[in-house]
Amino acid sequence: MNEVLNENGFPFRGQGGIYLDYNATTPCDPRVVDAMLPYFYEHPGNPASRTHAIGWRADEAVKKARKQIAHLTKVEAHEIIFTSGATESNNFALKGIYESYQHKGNHIITLTTEHKAVLDPLKKLETLGAEVTYLDVEPDGMVDLQKLENAITSQTLLIATMWANNETGVIQNMKAIGELCNQKNILLFSDATQAVGKIQTHPKELGVQLMSFSAHKMYGPKGVGALYVAHQDPKIKLAEQMNGGGHERGNRSGTLNVPGIVGFGKAAEIAQQEMEVDSARLQQLRDKFENTLLQQLELTSINGHSKNRLAHTCNMSFKFIDGEALMNTFNQRLAVASGSACTSASIEPSHVLLGMGLSKHLAQASLRFSLGKFTTEAEIDEAAAIIIANVNHQRALSPIWEMYKDGVDVEGLI
Ligand SMILES: *Cc1c(COP(=O)(O)O)cnc(C)c1O
Repeated sequence: MNEVLNENGFPFRGQGGIYLDYNATTPCDPRVVDAMLPYFYEHPGNPASRTHAIGWRADEAVKKARKQIAHLTKVEAHEIIFTSGATESNNFALKGIYESYQHKGNHIITLTTEHKAVLDPLKKLETLGAEVTYLDVEPDGMVDLQKLENAITSQTLLIATMWANNETGVIQNMKAIGELCNQKNILLFSDATQAVGKIQTHPKELGVQLMSFSAHKMYGPKGVGALYVAHQDPKIKLAEQMNGGGHERGNRSGTLNVPGIVGFGKAAEIAQQEMEVDSARLQQLRDKFENTLLQQLELTSINGHSKNRLAHTCNMSFKFIDGEALMNTFNQRLAVASGSACTSASIEPSHVLLGMGLSKHLAQASLRFSLGKFTTEAEIDEAAAIIIANVNHQRALSPIWEMYKDGVDVEGLI
């Protein structure tokens, strides 16, 4: 590896601008890459090959990774099922549970702020007879526990609430939700893709029976993920969604992605050792960034709970600004995300921000900045300066802004 070392000593250099989109994907930690490399050529075995040492070697590597991941999440190694990523894990959990238990009840409760990789499989299940309740969250992004309890019916099979939100970083109270589900004897599934490796995620302690996560959101490689399924009595039955050979104890067939899994394990080991320190540093940077913008720009606000929020995520609204247009003014100097989703017909405002009760205008005036362990203070300072200059410039061009400054009530105009 011959990249330029940045001031943290990490061989990562953001090309194509300052990278503030870690919630979309993280670069692979170079130590992860080093751990993976031998499994492409030197140790090429298939862990399902039981007849020779080359297969055993691959099997040992997968075993080690499974332990590293189980250790990080405080579960048993045999409770981890490897998949191709969190999208597959979510599909497997939701469809697998529904298929196995629909005779017991067909009702599932989830949040409107979930990732599409939860909402879309649930939409599919609706076409197969499932009844799904989509709960809006409070303005701070948290689900109201009373509303959650009130949504439960005698048919409720499963509650699906994400651990931490990808757009706002809002962290749900999984302990309280776990207690409620336990009390009501309802299965609890959590998409913890943004939480694992960033904050403590110990599903077993909190009564979360199923949990999805993904290597590429925690400095591991893309295309490998996991589903935790609690080993308990009575056994949780998950209908197999991928048939063909019975790998992963009959749960998910297909030759294991050995290099990917080895990298995932290494990423989990590193996260366990370093996430607290990383998170404290990122919180300082993130707070500095937010405070600078809030102080220097009027009518700017943070979306999401003030405390229950991932330390590296910042979702901000800039009133009277179009987020997409603002992003274009960055001219590829900043790699950030707008909450909007492009559909064929139009640009739709973020369903997450709408689910928190933001107006369409404010949702469209929002951008997500997500920092990561390779982010430096110099990058943050530069990013803040670019954003401030461009927001001021955009507003100066806006007739609505001019009217607002003249004291006209413009709320009806936006
Ligand atoms: C990224 C993400 C996913 C999808 O993960 P993949 O591994 O890319 O399939 C699912 N849920 C959340 C919350 C995410 O952030």
